[in-house]
Amino acid sequence: MWDVVVVGAGPNGLTAAARLARAGRRVLVVEAAPTIGGGSRTKPLTDDARYDVCAAVHPFGASSPAFEALRLCDHGLSWLHPPTALAHPFDDGDAAVLHRDLTLTIDGLGADRARWQRLVGRLSRTWQESRVLATGPVLDNLAHHPIAMARFGVVAGLPATTLARWFRTREAKALLLGFAAHSGVSLHLPATSGVAVALAAAAHAVGMPVAAGGSQAIVDALAAVIQDAGGEIRCDHLVTSLDDIPAARGVLLDLVPAHMAALLGRSAPRWRHGVAAWKLDLLLSGEMPWTAAPCRGAGTVHLGGEGNAVDRAERATARGHIPDTPYVIVTQPSVADPSRAPVGKHVVWAYRHVPNGCDAVSASGGIERQFDRFAPGWRDLVLHRQVTTAADFAAYNSGYVGGDIAGGAMTPWQTVARPRLSADPYRVRGRDDMWLCSQSTPPGPGVHGMCGWHAAGSVLRHS
Ligand SMILES: Cc1cc2nc3c(=O)[nH]c(=O)nc-3n(C[C@H](O)[C@H](O)[C@H](O)COP(=O)(O)OP(=O)(O)OC[C@H]3O[C@@H](n4cnc5c(N)ncnc54)[C@H](O)[C@@H]3O)c2cc1C
Repeated sequence: MWDVVVVGAGPNGLTAAARLARAGRRVLVVEAAPTIGGGSRTKPLTDDARYDVCAAVHPFGASSPAFEALRLCDHGLSWLHPPTALAHPFDDGDAAVLHRDLTLTIDGLGADRARWQRLVGRLSRTWQESRVLATGPVLDNLAHHPIAMARFGVVAGLPATTLARWFRTREAKALLLGFAAHSGVSLHLPATSGVAVALAAAAHAVGMPVAAGGSQAIVDALAAVIQDAGGEIRCDHLVTSLDDIPAARGVLLDLVPAHMAALLGRSAPRWRHGVAAWKLDLLLSGEMPWTAAPCRGAGTVHLGGEGNAVDRAERATARGHIPDTPYVIVTQPSVADPSRAPVGKHVVWAYRHVPNGCDAVSASGGIERQFDRFAPGWRDLVLHRQVTTAADFAAYNSGYVGGDIAGGAMTPWQTVARPRLSADPYRVRGRDDMWLCSQSTPPGPGVHGMCGWHAAGSVLRHS
């Protein structure tokens, strides 16, 4: 009899297991795939290069209270910072640039200098304390930090397109809307500002680093914490019924709500899956030939042009279309981490949103058109090219329903009630021995482990 069995070795399942093992519980983690990691795996792209299959850049990981408490840096994890955190190029060869350094950033924002300082700078300066607002259940935060939440909520609750109107320069608008578009919903929806402001504040507070060696290092460090504390991890162990779960006093599920309901023999919950991801990974024989110089040393590049074009692309996708000129999130891990590719070669990781379940082969063309627009000549450098479609993502991880990589759309309701409205949404209704710990709980997607951390906290309080 185990004290706790965790189903799923994604960053959240492993964080929950690590916290519980450290607290003295006998913990077993079971994982369907042959290796641990979920959305934080790193694999060979070619014989001589490695790529992050899913997550690549970690402002939330580097500022995660869970990873800090578990001291992952004592277990082999180190963060590497690119010369520039983020660039967002325009057609005239210029770019909006976000540096980790706030002063350098606002120096590039002209008329919006004071506004960026007021909106993002203040939050980033107090990020060590204020990150709690972005990393826990909304109702719990309202109960424990009512004034801070009210202050944060006034801005965070706005649609990003409304907040963007407050800025005058195309640079500040593009930075804000580019961050907001990570949410995968229309930027006209309430609460999309929260995603943008939290990401930007974290980016100034801790940077936008990659993990040395790849995102796999994060989950490997979590596994080391579990094993050091006497826990066990078994891969190739698919759970399709409660009978597949070894006997335990408590069970934590790193699953989406529909799969949890199926395990319990319950009808499918009302839960909306969001847009899917469609990814292109490249190995290049040299640096990406960006026209805008600041993109060359940037760990992250947001492609889409001016803010209103990013907004149009994401709105069209949310309505079920496949825009020809999509918003594309690009990362260049090898500008920060030389271990990813041989000297002189570079790995480029890029994805766009497409409608859930999309199988249109033309989706890759949208990414390539944005590369042609902002880095002409890139095709001549391609040594290896790999496409991951929405269907490939769904097959890779059963939690990516229809290719939705967020465990459920980040609509305003599903941000607050994730997956239900409660100060402790991790407890499974009607069960006192079962918890949900996946990204379908607060605070939602990202490799930060906070969903698992809070779920483990609930286990410690209740069992
Ligand atoms: C293309 C892409 C880019 C991303 N970029 C970033 C980024 O740059 N930065 C960032 O912070 N985040 C990023 N993310 C998001 C991040 O990867 C996820 O939010 C995070 O991995 C969620 O962790 P999780 O533990 O909740 O779920 P997952 O990582 O999905 O892990 C769930 C685990 O459970 C296992 N499992 C599922 N069902 C069963 C079962 N029945 N039995 C046993 N095991 C099971 C799965 O195999 C999987 O290993 C990205 C994701 C993708 C796909």
